[in-house]
Amino acid sequence: MDTSGSELSVLSAALKGAGIRMTHQRIEVFSELQASHGHPSVTEIYEGVRKRLPSISPDTVYRTLRLFSELGLIIPHSSTSSVTRFDVNVHEHHHFVCTRCSRIFDFTSSSIDPLEVPREAESFGEVQGVQLEVRGICRDCLRRERTQEE
Ligand SMILES: [Zn+2]
Ligand SMILES: [Zn+2]
Repeated sequence: MDTSGSELSVLSAALKGAGIRMTHQRIEVFSELQASHGHPSVTEIYEGVRKRLPSISPDTVYRTLRLFSELGLIIPHSSTSSVTRFDVNVHEHHHFVCTRCSRIFDFTSSSIDPLEVPREAESFGEVQGVQLEVRGICRDCLRRERTQEE
């Protein structure tokens, strides 16, 4: 992913469209998200931003992340864990979730994407997208477990 220039223009366009001011704090939170390349938690974003903006409060970070997700810049990841994570990847993709370290890996699949939404799911309301969650143990955790057994 290339650095700030084009990504910041995405942020400024989204804020402008919603009539919201582009502040230094919002820019910093956004840059931290872009640098994370994954599915950071609120705490991870806060810890990162705090290094550059020591005065920022966790509450401000949380509210900024909520704002960004309302603007469609990030997607809150609903997972079974109690930690709220945000997905920086807003394009259609699926997840491999490690049940040991709870890391989330993105993947795309040409065989899943054409799947029809089951009628049973449609009965709950309006469908906005389909995301598959594959659960398992990631390679790092497998390797760790194997070396412990030896
Ligand atoms: Zn793992
Ligand atoms: Zn993702």
